[in-house]
Amino acid sequence: MKRTRCAKLAPTIIRRLQALLGLQHWRIDLVIGKCSELGTQAEVSILHEYCRGHLTVDPDTITDPRELLTVLSHELLHLALSNLEAWSVQLDAALAEEAALRRTLQVSLIQCVERSVVQLESAIVGLYVLTHGEPE
Ligand SMILES: [Zn+2]
Repeated sequence: MKRTRCAKLAPTIIRRLQALLGLQHWRIDLVIGKCSELGTQAEVSILHEYCRGHLTVDPDTITDPRELLTVLSHELLHLALSNLEAWSVQLDAALAEEAALRRTLQVSLIQCVERSVVQLESAIVGLYVLTHGEPE
């Protein structure tokens, strides 16, 4: 997908997804460019306590507006589920002396969040298309 098209379309999709997910109070800083890991379509870093997300999208890895919608849905669902990740920070501190248990719980939380995000992704994409039509 062309960088200029991605830069034009992404903010609209993000704003609409924020409304669908109840994330209007979040500030999302968008960067169109390469992610830290090669080949990754998008990544988000979250400052949960400030309701702030830093979202990077790589247009070279995205073929069309529908895929952009799917990718942005995925990343915004990570914001929606960030309470769980904030909880894991607390758990981490509580288990400071239990390295093995801490690692096991971290891995299982990451897998659980990822599975939940993927499961919800198609629901949100469907809801978006129903509400706003295909992104173009
Ligand atoms: Zn994910």
